[in-house]
Amino acid sequence: MTLTPHSLTRTQAYINGQWLDAQSGLKFNVSNPASGESIAQVADCGAEETRQAIEAAEATLPVWRAKTAQERSELLRRWHGLVLQHKDALASILTSEQGKPLSEAAGEIAYGGSYIQWFAEEAKRIYGDMIPPPANDKRIVVIKQAVGVVASITPWNFPNAMLARKAAPALAAGCTFVAKPAHETPLSALALAALSEEAGIPPGVFNVVCGSNSAVIGQELTKNPLVRKLTFTGSTAVGKLLQEQCTATVKKTSMELGGNAPFIVFDDADLNAAIAGAMASKYRNAGQTCICANRILVQSGIHDRFVERLHTEVSRLQMGAGTDPAVDMGPLIHKQAAKEVDAIVQDALSLGAQANAGGKVSELGPCFYEPTILSGCTPAMRCFREEIFGPVAAVFKFDTEAEAIELANNTEYGLAAYFYTLDHSRIWRVGEALEFGIVGINEGLVSNAMAPFGGVKQSGHGREGSRYGIDDYIEIKYMCMGGI
Ligand code: NAP
Repeated sequence: MTLTPHSLTRTQAYINGQWLDAQSGLKFNVSNPASGESIAQVADCGAEETRQAIEAAEATLPVWRAKTAQERSELLRRWHGLVLQHKDALASILTSEQGKPLSEAAGEIAYGGSYIQWFAEEAKRIYGDMIPPPANDKRIVVIKQAVGVVASITPWNFPNAMLARKAAPALAAGCTFVAKPAHETPLSALALAALSEEAGIPPGVFNVVCGSNSAVIGQELTKNPLVRKLTFTGSTAVGKLLQEQCTATVKKTSMELGGNAPFIVFDDADLNAAIAGAMASKYRNAGQTCICANRILVQSGIHDRFVERLHTEVSRLQMGAGTDPAVDMGPLIHKQAAKEVDAIVQDALSLGAQANAGGKVSELGPCFYEPTILSGCTPAMRCFREEIFGPVAAVFKFDTEAEAIELANNTEYGLAAYFYTLDHSRIWRVGEALEFGIVGINEGLVSNAMAPFGGVKQSGHGREGSRYGIDDYIEIKYMCMGGI
């Protein structure tokens, strides 16, 4: 059966294979950030529905775990096939609730799907070990087993991919799953649930609970002892809170938190490549990605040429509703986000930075922020310390390699970093010195299913994607056999 965009737009929670309203009958509003129009009323679930989903996931665990890896793999492959088959409908739903251009939304669906495909394959490769024993009458065997019920909390900036990146390895490993998407963007998660149902993934394996009160749902997910692991993507502040809430039941956690990526351009860089990388890394999703270039550090010899070229590229960007195919950059998620970005820009301007482009909320509407370039930025400014999460390129000038490394590492975050140079020894020196989980070298697009994505320091722990990604969803069991 082919599901239409209409039939993929679900507004009820998906619990134990059933589509349910909230017990209170309450609903919350989902709106299109480009127009402010309401696009759906979604079941406003709370602690009770969350508990129900957790209990369903717990009850289904023995059935799901007992499937062979091949069987789980096959179901994930079917889910992936349906995601690709419905790519356009999923992209349209994503753009309507999140705002990014349709082409970026379609890219996100393919990217999210690639994790389902990858982990469908990895399901068959969760190998154990034989270890040489200390005595000849013993055998040491290591097996890997599913952690159990996994809860996930995901943000609005990649409402499809952030969820797919967690659900796919969890299900591949034999875990069951309860998802709580952000209240701004529940429809993409519910559409994924509709396709999981269509793929034949058994009831109770993949559940989605939405609600306007994330703290209440979060309390249940973190305190309920049946949940054995919480996987979270979002801000560092909320991640710390959730991690604390998980301690009472000693849950495993994966934390994909905020970033403050340095983007370093050395004098010997290929300027064309650096500009292309900066545009892709800075303005994609209107600057609302955790691996966005946040601090653009440019060496003095190339600085003026870099700023001039960046200005030329930025002035070509078309901003507008993501549904318009001519548009390169959509709105921010809500008015408050635009205000917060503006506060960071005004802080920089008040401390001596210059706006080479943009620098204010656009006349297109309260959620649109003009693509902005700030030059003359310094570490005293908020744009050096904080995640900007908007289309603002903050440019800082430096003189030496040591100074660039010192500036880049001067943050509590450690997710992504980028640098551009054609000097081979510098590539090794700087690559090894940067205190970040992901380093793009002469490359601005670093995320794919084959590679381990994740941060160090206060950007979190755990890795998503790659052969390491499954590790977050398995327990290692050692069996000692005697009398042999
Ligand atoms: P956020 O406020 O932390 O929200 C993320 C998720 O947490 C949403 O589902 C939100 O639900 C939920 N939440 C908020 N408060 C909660 C609470 N007290 N208890 C339980 N759940 C709670 O982050 P955001 O502003 O939406 O997202 C942007 C952040 O995510 C940025 O810092 C970005 O860097 C980070 N991010 C990191 C990665 C990565 O891989 N490292 C990827 C993408 C984004 P509601 O929205 O419904 O309140």
